Parts: sequence; structure tokens; C-alpha cells
Amino acid sequence: MNLLDNDIKFVSGVGEVRAKLLAKEIGVRTVRDMLYHFPFRYIDRTKIYKIGELNEANSSGGYIQIRARVTGKNFFGEGRSQRFVIYVSDDTGKAELIWFRGIKWIENKFELGREYLIFGRPSFYRSELSLVHPEVEPIEAALMRKEHSSLQGIYSTTEKLSTALGTKGMYNIIGKILERLDGNVADYMPDYLRQHYGLISLEQALRNIHQPQSPAMLKQAQYRLKFDELFGIQLNIQTLRSARTTARAGFHFGRVGEYFNAFYNTRLPFPLTGAQKRVIKEIRTDTISGCQMNRLLQGDVGSGKTVVALISMILAVDNGYQACMMAPTEILARQHYATIVKLVGDIGLRVGILTGTTKAKERRQTLEALSAGEIDILVGTHALLEDRVQFSNLGFVVIDEQHRFGVEQRARLWTKNNNPPHILVMTATPIPRTLAMMIYGDLDISVIDELPPGRQPIKTLHYYDSARLRLFGFMREQIAQGRQIYIVYPLIKESEKADYANLEEGFAAIVRDFPLPKYRVSACHGKMKPEDKEESMRQFKCGEADILVATSVIEVGVDVPNATVMVIESAERFGLAQLHQLRGRVGRGANQSYCILLSDEKLSKESRTRLEAMCETTDGFRLAELDLQLRGAGDINGTQQSGEVLDFKIANPAQDNQILQVAQQAAIALLTADPDLSEPQHQSLRVLKARYSRNKDIDFSVIS
Ligand code: ADP
Ligand code: MG
Repeated sequence: MNLLDNDIKFVSGVGEVRAKLLAKEIGVRTVRDMLYHFPFRYIDRTKIYKIGELNEANSSGGYIQIRARVTGKNFFGEGRSQRFVIYVSDDTGKAELIWFRGIKWIENKFELGREYLIFGRPSFYRSELSLVHPEVEPIEAALMRKEHSSLQGIYSTTEKLSTALGTKGMYNIIGKILERLDGNVADYMPDYLRQHYGLISLEQALRNIHQPQSPAMLKQAQYRLKFDELFGIQLNIQTLRSARTTARAGFHFGRVGEYFNAFYNTRLPFPLTGAQKRVIKEIRTDTISGCQMNRLLQGDVGSGKTVVALISMILAVDNGYQACMMAPTEILARQHYATIVKLVGDIGLRVGILTGTTKAKERRQTLEALSAGEIDILVGTHALLEDRVQFSNLGFVVIDEQHRFGVEQRARLWTKNNNPPHILVMTATPIPRTLAMMIYGDLDISVIDELPPGRQPIKTLHYYDSARLRLFGFMREQIAQGRQIYIVYPLIKESEKADYANLEEGFAAIVRDFPLPKYRVSACHGKMKPEDKEESMRQFKCGEADILVATSVIEVGVDVPNATVMVIESAERFGLAQLHQLRGRVGRGANQSYCILLSDEKLSKESRTRLEAMCETTDGFRLAELDLQLRGAGDINGTQQSGEVLDFKIANPAQDNQILQVAQQAAIALLTADPDLSEPQHQSLRVLKARYSRNKDIDFSVIS
């Protein structure tokens, strides 16, 4: 067995208990896992600061080293809240070293008057330097010690883990592994590719990512490991892409028939924007190509994706096929259904709806009509995925708000006809192109980058909580003018009690400050019964309520053109993508709209950047780029979305665009020469490819 496959517990100094903890806390089970747990930053261990030169500005967030003498010690508090402080100083200033745990163990390690090398993360209180749980070594020992490298990696860890391992635990384990690495790392990258792309060996890369010999070697190691990650993903994406465009036959929508003409000539209430026309053309081209379409339509909120989807579905019907449209929530499905019924009017299209709450009798009728071919367009929720939903001839599928659905669900729709239907996935979450290429690499991408004419840009303002009274005055004015208002509270997890307490308090306060009979307030959140939720939404939609107090359940797609104010409470707790989505709920009518971001006065730098960006721009793509830079790719769609969240260990698509380009070209070139990696020298690359396969859940055998 290869060393890397060994259970981590066999590495000396680990053992059962720590192994369990490593698995639980950071998912490390094997030696390989540990080796691929890369430092997230490096510090220069040769640099020793003077206490006097450190301040909040020049050392925030980083780790530093000082060399100082112990001048005293003291205990504060008792029991669990006990704190142990060591006072140190050098010739430029004083500092405090603080421990909350492991005090017994640490307290006798220090001698008064002796000098130590102290390493840790600085914090400042009234410009006094302190270090919590620093790493401390007598200076003589520190100077004797020969470092493997002047750059020391900093590993992400958890509180439990760092307590159990001690400050040096992770280094020791890694060190033990690296000692035995020689010849144990099989490099799956063939020599000729390594040479061609200037990559160091995998073993060298793994050594240097943990214990860099030099800054230059660290760079090379990072390049190699990022390349592997991006190349591995690209091998998968490019395989999917070529499988789709070469092998899979698609329905041919050759005709532009009576429904389309009737709709276009008599029903369409507005001229299409240039962008809408372009996208419809792209879909037309796909659906007469003979191959199955898998297209992602990105368009900011309010850009008019629905009508594009509808026209595409009508084209399917004109060619004798059925179409369906799947929305992520009941509310949205019903809204789409209503919109579509209204838009198509009496041109003879048969439109149905199916959701989780459809009554048994109605459901039976709908299912029968569907399989008999008596429904042309079916709108619904996840309920459409159930096996009992049988179409007579499904040819076109629209999926709204893709990020709520996983790849697997998309694939399930493919099996609803002998051939996979064409698929149009729509999202209002603008995704930077580089990232979209990776997340949706098996999809072609269309973009609606133009809003329908006559929209006034939404004004976005950031208020501190203390300005609430002024805000209420403004809200009253808007309501007096006949407008409606959303107030949204954060909800991180549907189960978090505190969030509901927030919302309930907020609701009570609003009802108090906006009393009946003048003001009508309704509420909508995930804990309400679907009927009640529906009723609240209905009241707001038809203007029976002036204010809707809600959690972010209203985030996607809800359309109330008369609502002109979006108030977001604790806006600092939302991600940029979500803020942008929420803002898109207003600005849908002719009146000037406003988005008010309320926040605490104390804001982290990142939250402030987010709120400022929101006030500065309404361009979803710019915000998405920024979001990507702020948060990295792993979390791009927010925390609660399933499916295609990327899991990069080292590459960062916001910064590594160039490596991505090279890796993509490399993957294309390789697969062109050897599509299924069957040549002997490429066998090992299958391992790499498998490791980064995110689409394991699609079983292609069902379709081809
Ligand atoms: P989204 O892309 O967010 O799904 P919708 O499809 O809901 O946007 O469209 C937003 C609003 O814009 C709807 O009220 C729709 O009727 C309107 N709309 C769409 N296209 C046009 C257009 N070309 N001209 C004018 N209004 C349009
Ligand atoms: Mg929409």
C-alpha cells in the first residue's frame, strides 16, 4: 500500500484520539489528506519585530515574532473564566501574553528576567500589544534551532484541534510525513507534460508547499498544485463538453409555427430588447443543430428572462413537443404560471401547474392530461422530478434559478423522454465568466446584459441603525404616495431561533410604529404554513398590504412592481449576491425605487466594503467579481446552496485566471489527442481526473 493511503493515526505522534479529532475537525483521515491540507499563508520566521514598531495598521491579521524579556505574571478570574497573563518587554515597549486554557501547563514554563522568542497573532487594546496563546521559546533554543525554512506555513485549524495538538502539532505531523515522503509520491503528470508546462514534480511541490526552501520554490509549488487542480477540473469539463456536442442527439425544432406567430404578433406586450433577441437566436440555433442544448442563461434580476423562456417553450410546442418550467419555490412556480397564462392569453396553448401542494384530484387530472399530451406547458416545482410525472413528448425544459438545483436534478429531467430534452437553465446570480466556465463548464452560456428600457436605476443608501427614525419618516412618505415596502431580516439557517426572534421583534415594532387603520403590514417567513405564506404574499401582491416583513425567502423572483422600497435589516450579515438579489425585488415599475441597507455601526472591513459596493453600483456582474475576490470561490453562491459549490484547496479563480487559461488549453489539447486517456502514458491522469470529477452524480449511460 502506498504511504499516502495510510490512516493518519499511524503517523508517529498522532494515534487514535488525535486521528479522530483530525477527521472530525478538518476532514483529514489519510496521510494524503494531511499532505493536501495546505497552509493558507506563510510568515517569515527570520523577521523579528520590535514591540515599539508594531501597531494596528501594520500587523492586523498577520502573525509576528518579537524577542522580549519576562517582567511579571498574574492570574485573573476563576475557574472557566480564568486568565493567565505574562508581562514582557523589550527596549522599545511592553506587551501582554494571554492564556485562557492550558494555564497549569504553561504557568511554570517562564522564568522572570529571561528572554524568549514569542510568535503569535497580535491584537491591540488601547494601542497596547497583546498576544493570545502565542508560541514561546527560550531565545537560546530558538537561535540554535535550524529551521527547515525561513517561511513557515500557517494552517487553518479549529479551536478544538489547536488545543489538542498544541501550537506546533500540525508542523510536527507534517514534518514526520515529509521525512518519509521520498519516492512515495507517484506523479500522475507525464514527464513530457511537466516539461511542456514548466511544472516541478509533485513530490517537490508537496514538500515546498509545506516547508518552502525559498520564496521562489514556494511559487513553483503553488503553481504546480494550482495547475493540477484546474487541469483536473478542466479534464472533466472538456470531456463533458465533447460528449455533449458530439454524441448526444437532440430534438430538431425546425418549424416556427402558429403558436409562435400568434404570440409574437398578437400577445407580446413590449418589443424585445436587443439582448433578449440575441439570446432567443442562440437558442434557435441550438435547437436546430441536431444536438441537445444545455444552455445557461444569465441575466440580472428584471432583465426579462421569463419571456425568453416562454418563447423558447412555445417554439417547442410548435414542433410537437411539450415543455416544462421548474422553479425553486412554490411561490415562484405560481407566479410563473400566472405570468405565462396571462401572457399567452387565448392563443390556444394549454398550460398546467404542478407543485407539492396540488390537491390529489387535481394532480391526477394533470398527470393524466400530461401523459396524454393534452398539456403543452407544465410549470412546477421539484414535484416535476417525481417518477409519476410522465410526459407524452417532453422536448424542452426550463430551470429557473439554477443554483437551487443540483446537477443531479438536472440529469433526472433528461430521462423523461427517450432523448434528452433541450435544457435552458436560468440564473439571476451573475457569475464571473471565468468562474462560470468552471461551475457550468458543461453548459453553453448566454447573457442578457441589457435591462428593458425606461427603468430608473435604484438608489441605494446605507444607514446605521441609529437613523431608524428618519427611515420611518421616509417610509411613511412612500406609503402616502401609494407605494409598498419590503423589510427583510437575515436568516442564515431556517432553524435559527435567534433570527426568528429578530424578525418577530421587528414585525412587532413595525406594527407599533405603523399602526392600523392607516398601515397594513403582513409577514412572510419560512416557518409559516405554506397557505399562510401564500396568503401574505397574495395580500402584498394585490396591494392589500403596504409593508411586507420577511426573511430572505422572498429573495428570488417575486415580482411586485408597485413596491419601491427594500429595507434590509442587519445588511452586514448578507453576502453581496444576496443583497443584490434582494435589491432586485424593487425597481420593477415606473417609480423611483430605493434600497436601504441598515447596519450596526461596528462593521468589519469586509462588511463595509460590501455595503459600499452596493451603494456604488447596480451592476450584478461587477458585484459578483468583487464577491469572488472577497470570499473566494468556494462560497460563491452563499452558504446554503447545494450542488455545484466548488471546492478548491489552492486555486483561486479570481486571481488565477492565467493558470486557468493554460490548464484549459492543456486539457483540450490532451483530450483532442487522446479523448479517453487510454494511451499508457496517460493512464495515471485518470486518477487526477477522477479526483476532480464533480459530476459523478450524472450517469451518462442512461442517456447515451
Ligand atoms: P427576470 O429576468 O428577473 O426573471 P422578468 O422576466 O421577471 O425578469 O422580467 C421583469 C419585468 O420586465 C417583467 O415585468 C416583464 O414583463 C418586463 N419585461 C421583460 N422584457 C421586457 C421588455 N423587452 N420590455 C419591457 N418590459 C419587459
Ligand atoms: Mg425571474
